[in-house]
Amino acid sequence: MGDKSSPSGGHAIALFSGGLDSALAILLMLRQDIKVTALTFLTHFGCDIGDRSACGTDPYPVAEKFGFDVKLMHLGQKFLDIVEKPRYGRGRNMNVCTDCRILMLTEARKYMEQVGADFVVTGEVLGQRPMSQVRNKLNLTENQSGLKGKLLRPLSAKLCRPTEAELSGLVDRDKLEAIQGRSRKRQMELARQFGLEDYPSPAAGCLLTDVGYSNRLRDLLSHSERLTFDDLNLLRVGRHFRIDESTKVVVGRNEADNEKLITCRQAHHVHLEALGTGSPVTLLVGNASETNLARAAAITARYCASRHLDRVDVTVMNSTGQRTLSVRPARDEDLRAIIIR
Ligand code: SF4
Repeated sequence: MGDKSSPSGGHAIALFSGGLDSALAILLMLRQDIKVTALTFLTHFGCDIGDRSACGTDPYPVAEKFGFDVKLMHLGQKFLDIVEKPRYGRGRNMNVCTDCRILMLTEARKYMEQVGADFVVTGEVLGQRPMSQVRNKLNLTENQSGLKGKLLRPLSAKLCRPTEAELSGLVDRDKLEAIQGRSRKRQMELARQFGLEDYPSPAAGCLLTDVGYSNRLRDLLSHSERLTFDDLNLLRVGRHFRIDESTKVVVGRNEADNEKLITCRQAHHVHLEALGTGSPVTLLVGNASETNLARAAAITARYCASRHLDRVDVTVMNSTGQRTLSVRPARDEDLRAIIIR
């Protein structure tokens, strides 16, 4: 293993999250002298290699150790489109796993056709995830991505119909696996055989599976025509308050949030801070009416170090200048009604 050429003439495109199953699927191909090009998909919802809350893990150490190429592919607007309007519905939260799999497999098929590869490989295991890896879902994603007959799942291959690669002899079906269900015993055995160490435990999913993030995203979708990257970046940071149909207030919870909010600030945002009082950074996004500015200032005052005072001076900064509002800190019972949890 480790030779990037393909003595058998076979070339597979593999979906590679960096996790154990997708790594094993690739290693099972390399063991048969199939050349593998791995695709690691990135989205705005955390499935990126720099974010450990995501599905994805850094793909490069395994690729370097075993000798295959990795190509990063950002799904960008295509992914936003399915998050806005998933054809196959959502999971428990805002996750759109079926549409997501179809999109990734479709992109893998296009890449396979572009580079003249023979088939696509995934680390999916029959019955491992109740919603997305049951047989009818696996068939659906295969068909809808245009990969019928060209999608090999080496870990469960012996339980599935033979693919073209197996029928043509490019891949030896006898050397594939028949893993089913949630136990990872066989995968760990294979990992030992291949010398695959330090693999991550299975990840829970991308940000779309997170309850708090999903609530904020649901609120955003119900108040916006289209998702924008700027709005999505803000969803990851701070406490969010919906103060009217078109206006939100985002308040930093700590120094890291404050710095991110400064970075996320756009020209149409209003920046509020109770300067000199250990204040959070607050952004008002939407209608900067006097009423809304006063509410945003009161929320800012509630989270600053002077929140016990009757009145707090809050500086309001926008693209045309700054001024100070003297406000009474918001009451917790009022905030409970408008916080998006
Ligand atoms: S959790 Fe679901 S929606 Fe999110 S990246 Fe994974 S498969 Fe896609």
